[in-house]
Amino acid sequence: MNYRIGQPELLKEINLSRAFDILKSARILSRPVLAHQTGLSRATSAVLMEDLLRAGVAKHVGLGDSTGGRPPALLEFNPDAAYALGARMVDHRWGIVITNLDGLVVQRLDIPILNHTPEAAVDALYEGVKTLMATVDQTRILSAIGLGTPGLVDMEAGVIKTAVDVNWFEVPIRAMVEKKLGLRTFVANRGKVGALAEYWHGAARNLKDIIYISIGTGIAAGIVHEGKLFMGANSSAGELGHVTILPDGPICRCGNRGCLQQLISEPAIADRARVRLREGGDTILWTMVGTYPERATAEMVFQAAEQGDGLAGEIVVEVARYLGIAVANLINLFNPELIVLGGPLGQIGQVLLEPLLEEVRRHAMAYPLSVVKIVTSAMGPDAGAIGAAVLVLQRASELIFGDKH
Ligand SMILES: [Zn+2]
Repeated sequence: MNYRIGQPELLKEINLSRAFDILKSARILSRPVLAHQTGLSRATSAVLMEDLLRAGVAKHVGLGDSTGGRPPALLEFNPDAAYALGARMVDHRWGIVITNLDGLVVQRLDIPILNHTPEAAVDALYEGVKTLMATVDQTRILSAIGLGTPGLVDMEAGVIKTAVDVNWFEVPIRAMVEKKLGLRTFVANRGKVGALAEYWHGAARNLKDIIYISIGTGIAAGIVHEGKLFMGANSSAGELGHVTILPDGPICRCGNRGCLQQLISEPAIADRARVRLREGGDTILWTMVGTYPERATAEMVFQAAEQGDGLAGEIVVEVARYLGIAVANLINLFNPELIVLGGPLGQIGQVLLEPLLEEVRRHAMAYPLSVVKIVTSAMGPDAGAIGAAVLVLQRASELIFGDKH
C-alpha cells in the first residue's frame, strides 16, 4: 500500500481524518494548535479547517488568546453535523438507533421480525430504518449502518457463520443489507459491540484496555485494546461463552462439555431455579411464579437474591463461582483496566458483584488484579445498538470526507 501514500488525494484524506480526530477530542481548537498537533504547516492546516467547516463538523466560536499578533479564530466540534445508524438484533426484534458523532442517541425504534428467516430480518430492518430516518434531517445521516447480530460473525466478509439460537448458518448479512438498504454495512456480534458503546460513552470512556462481558441467552466478551475491538485471526475472539469451565459438565450446542454458557446464561440460571422449585425449595420465587416453576426466569433469581432470599442467593453464588473463573482468566490473559458486566442479565447483576469479586480474588494473579475494576453496565438496553452505531462512527471521517475529492 505504501505506493499510494504519495497520492495527494489520499494524503489529504489522511490529514483530514487526523484533523477530525484532533478536533473531536479537543472539542475547541485554533489553527496554530491544529498545525502544531498535526505537524503540518499553518497554510495546510488552514485548508483542513476550511474543509471541516464546510462539512459542518466544525463551527466558529470566537477568538482565542493572542500570543502577540492577531488572536486566532477558534473552531468548535459540532457533534450533530452527522448521524450514524446502528441496529441490534435480539429475541426476533431489531433495536435501531440514530446517534450523533459522539454516540449519543438522537432517535430510537424497536421493530419485530415477522419470522425466523434472514430475509424477514432484513425486511424488518429496512422498514425500521426507513421509519427512523424520516424523523431526522436525512442529509446528515452517514451512508452506512452498523449491525450487532447473533452468532459468530466473520467481520471481514460480513457473514454470520453460525447463529445457533436463530438456526442461521453462513448468512451473507452484509451483502443482503447493502442490497436492500443501499447503505455500507458493518457487522459484528451483538454481545461484543456492547464493548464499543462502553468505550465511547459508557463506563470505559478514556480507558484503553477494557473487556465487556455480555450475559444473556448467550455469553460473549468484547475485548477493547487501544480503543479498538480485538477481533483475532478470523474475528472470533471473545467467545467467552464457550470456554470450558467444567470438563465433565453439561453438553453444549457447540459440541463441547461444561462451557460457561451452559452454566450461567439466562436459560441455564432459569433451569437451576426450576429444579430447586420442583424440589419444593422454600423461596420467595414462589410469589413470582405462582404454582408454576417453569415460569422462573434468571431475572427473577437476581431480584429474589437482592431481597435476601436464601435459595436465590445460593444460585447467584454458584453463578459467581463459574463466572469468576472465566473473569480471572481474562484478567490474567489481557490485563484490562475495567471489566463491564452487560447484556440483559449483566446490567442487573449488582447482586453478583460481591461474590464474583471474592471468586476472582481467589483465581486471578495479584498484580493484574490490582488495577482492574469490575462494574455493571449503566448504559441500558440501547448499549448493543449504540455499539453497532460505533462501527460506523469509527469510520466517520472517511464517510464524511471520503467521496468529496
Ligand atoms: Zn459451547
